[in-house]
Amino acid sequence: MGRSAVRALGLDDEVLGWLAAIDEMGPGFAERAFRYDAEASFPFENYEDLRQAGFLKLCVPKRHGGLGCNYRAYMLVAQRIGFWCGTTANTFNMHVANSLWTADLVDALDLTAQERAEHEARRAIHYGRMVAGAIYAQPFSEASSAAAGVSPFGSTAQRQDRGYLLNGRKIFASLSGAADYYGILCTEAKADAVASRRDTMFVAVPANAQGLSIVGDWDPLGMRGTVSRTLLLKDVFVPEEAQLMPRGIYIQAATRWPHMFMTLTGTYLGVMQAAYEFTLRYLRGEVSGIRVKRRMYPTKQIAVAEMLVKLETAFAIWLRAIADAKLDPSEEERVRALAAQYTVMEHCNEVCRLAIRTCGGQSMLRSLPLERYYRDSRCGSLMLPWTAEICLDRLGHGALYRKGETDD
Ligand SMILES: Cc1cc2nc3c(=O)[nH]c(=O)nc-3n(C[C@H](O)[C@H](O)[C@H](O)COP(=O)(O)OP(=O)(O)OC[C@H]3O[C@@H](n4cnc5c(N)ncnc54)[C@H](O)[C@@H]3O)c2cc1C
Repeated sequence: MGRSAVRALGLDDEVLGWLAAIDEMGPGFAERAFRYDAEASFPFENYEDLRQAGFLKLCVPKRHGGLGCNYRAYMLVAQRIGFWCGTTANTFNMHVANSLWTADLVDALDLTAQERAEHEARRAIHYGRMVAGAIYAQPFSEASSAAAGVSPFGSTAQRQDRGYLLNGRKIFASLSGAADYYGILCTEAKADAVASRRDTMFVAVPANAQGLSIVGDWDPLGMRGTVSRTLLLKDVFVPEEAQLMPRGIYIQAATRWPHMFMTLTGTYLGVMQAAYEFTLRYLRGEVSGIRVKRRMYPTKQIAVAEMLVKLETAFAIWLRAIADAKLDPSEEERVRALAAQYTVMEHCNEVCRLAIRTCGGQSMLRSLPLERYYRDSRCGSLMLPWTAEICLDRLGHGALYRKGETDD
C-alpha cells in the first residue's frame, strides 16, 4: 500500500511505528526468502527479528504485557510482512490468530461469569508465553469437511481428571517443528452423544507433549517455508489451562465474528503488491542484471494498468471489509467479507500471472523473486475455511435464497 494510502487511513503513531518497524526488517526478509523457498525451510531468522522487535506479542492485550494491536492494525502489519516475505506473513498469521481470536473477540461473546473468569486466567498463561517469545501455530485442517465448517472436527478431546486426552491428525500444520505450541481445534468426545460442532474445543498442545509427532514431508508448489507437515496426536494429555477458548465457544465465535477467517488476506495483498512493484521496476529497467527498459511498449502499459486496477480494487474492498470486522456484522458486511477474501486471493494470483507474462521469460528465473510470488500466490485461494470456491458458493447461494428458503 502506498504511503499516501496509509496516511489517508489516519493511523496513530503506534500503528505507523509497527509498519515502519516491519519495513526496516523487510529487506532482510526479502533477501532470505530465496533460501527458505529453495530449501522449503522455516524462516527462523525472520522470527528472531520479529521476536527482538516484540512482534510475537503483537496482538496480546497491553494489560497482559503485549502490544495491544487490534484486528485492523494487525491486517495492515500482515500486509507489510507479506510484501517482504509471503511465507513469513503466512506463518505469522497462524501465530497471531491464537491471540487475536482469544482477546476482545471472545470478550464480546456471550459467556457466563464463570467462563469469563476461567478464560481470563487461562489466556493469561498463553499470553505470558507469547510475551516471553513462544511461537504458537494453528493447525485445524484435517482432510475432511471439518475445516470448511461443514462437519465436526475428527480430532477428539476426551475429558480426564484435570484435563483432556487428545487424539487425531492435522494436515498442513504450518510452523511444524518451529512452534512451541499448537493451537488445535478438536471435538469434545461425549459418551453416547453424536459428535457436534457445538462441542468444538480450541486447545494449545506443547510441542514436546508426549504422544505428539510430526510426520510426512513438505515439498509444495508455493509458500514453501511454512513447513506445513502433518501432526499426529496419540493420547496426548493436556491440562485444563491448555484451553485457548472456553469449551463450546468456538462455534459462537465463528458464527458471530466471521471476519476472524479472513486474516490471511493481509499476506496475499502484500504478495500482490510486491509482484506489482517488481513489474514496475522491471519494465523501467531498474532490476539488477536486467537493465533494459521495456516500459515504452503500449502492451506493457496496458498490462500494468490492468494490474493496478486489480490491486486497487482488492485494496479498496479489503480496507472496507477489515473496518467492518466486529461482533454480529450485518448481512451486507458478511457478504463483503467473503467478497473481499475472494477478491484478494484471486487477484493476487492474477496479478502475479500478469506480472510474469508482461515482464517476460527472464523474469521467471529463480534468481528473481517474481516466480516465487507467482507460486506463493496460487495457495491463497485454497485456504480453508474460506477458499475461493467456498466464498463463491456462499455468495451465490446467499444472493439467490433468503434465510431458510428452499425450492421444495
Ligand atoms: C501453504 C499452506 C499453508 C497452510 N497452513 C495451514 C495451517 O497452518 N493450518 C491449517 O489448518 N491449514 C493450513 N493450510 C491448509 C488449508 O487451509 C487447507 O486445509 C488445505 O489446503 C486443504 O486442502 P484439501 O485439498 O484437503 O481441501 P478440501 O477440503 O479437500 O477441499 C478441496 C477444495 O474443495 C472445495 N471445497 C471444500 N469444501 C467445500 C464446500 N463445503 N463447499 C464448496 N467447496 C468446497 C474448496 O475450494 C477446496 O479448495 C495450509 C495450506 C497451504 C497451501
